[in-house]
Formats: sequence, structure tokens, C-alpha cells
Amino acid sequence: MTIYVTTDTPLNISPTDPEWKIFEKDVANFVARLDSSSKPLQYDARIMGVVSRVERQVDVLVEGELNGIPIAVAIECKKYSRAIDVGEIDAFVGKLRDLSVDKGVFYVYDGVTAGARNRADGALHPKVLLRESVSGSLVVDDWDELLPDCPNENCYGGMVNWVASRQPAGGEDVSWGYCDSCGTFAFSCRDCGEVESAELGSAECFTCGAKYKLETVDYQSTEIGEVFQLSRGVD
Ligand SMILES: [Zn+2]
Ligand SMILES: [Zn+2]
Repeated sequence: MTIYVTTDTPLNISPTDPEWKIFEKDVANFVARLDSSSKPLQYDARIMGVVSRVERQVDVLVEGELNGIPIAVAIECKKYSRAIDVGEIDAFVGKLRDLSVDKGVFYVYDGVTAGARNRADGALHPKVLLRESVSGSLVVDDWDELLPDCPNENCYGGMVNWVASRQPAGGEDVSWGYCDSCGTFAFSCRDCGEVESAELGSAECFTCGAKYKLETVDYQSTEIGEVFQLSRGVD
């Protein structure tokens, strides 16, 4: 049965709860503290599958606004005495699709395999964040990675599929990628952190004025190009 959870009404953890359930409740109480949305989050929610037309169970469902953007996030919690494998991420992605929820967060207690991590990192529709508890406690979290970050103002809900480019002479990385929705090329300014769009050739951060040069970025492939910083921005 769905239980509504808020900061003031956290879930009660009973000593007789099995360990996986304690983990689920820990996550729900933790997320309730993070969530600034108006609606209370739902624990053990039941939602009708859009595709399957059967009721699906969701450990934690968050609906509301994050930084003013409407968002629905389904959260799965797994405490097995082994690492989570790729099949469990596949099943979660399938559930998100069935629920027509486009964002998911997967909290794991006992680690993940490399395949599971790659599967989660590569999931775009829906976007999946993997969260591992560190030595049993949940780390400070923010879900900015779930928010649309496409710099094209005509693009609604687009998410940049970030990759990193190594600077020459061992400098810091410049993150860049393509929007998964409109295909805009975006990079994250190394000086001010702003996400900007750019064409091949030279690029300038419209926020701080830092200048960059973009090379060998091939729109037809996922080949990693180079983003070189030419000059610093102003603070
Ligand atoms: Zn876009
Ligand atoms: Zn900048």
C-alpha cells in the first residue's frame, strides 16, 4: 500500500523489518529530506503500467518540481548480498518505460558490476542515476543530473549526453556532448560552469567570455573530439 512520506512524517523503521526493507525506508526518508517539491513522496507506490496495463510496484515515487521544473522520478532500492548486475538495471529501465516515467534513480547497497554501471550511465530515455550507499550510509545527494540541461532555449527537456575531452598538457577536462533531443552541441565552461552551445571552430562562453576551440567533433559519430580552452573568462 502506498504510504506518503514527508520530513515530518518519516517512515517508522521496525527492528523486525528485513534488511532490504530497512534500506528502502532509509532511502525514502533520505529522499523526503532532499525533496523540495510540494507533493509528499510515495513509498511502495502502485501505478498502472501504460504498456502492460497491470499494476507496477515502485519503491519510492517523487512527483513535483525540482528547481521549478516539473519532474517525476521513480526510485528503486536494492540491498542484495551481492553486486547489482546489468539485468537488474535492464528490468528497472523497462519498468520506467512501462510507467512512462522518464527519470529513475537506482539506490544500491552492495555495489554494482561494471556492466550494470555502463548500462545505467548509457540509459538516456529514461535517464537513470545510480546511487551507491557508501559504507552503509547514504551520501549527500542532489538530482541536478536529472534536470534538462540543453543550452538551446527552444529545446524543452533535452539532456546533454556528456563526455569529457582531455586538455593538452594534462589540464582539466572540458565536458561536452550532444543534446539527446535536438542534437545541439554543448560544452560546460571550465571557468564559470555554465552550459553553452557551440558550433565547430571557435566558441565563446556567453556568460564569462572564456574562449574555446573545438576540433574533430564529428556530428555523425560518437568519436571524442577536442575542446581546447584558448583564453580565460572574467569573474
Ligand atoms: Zn536540446
Ligand atoms: Zn564561462
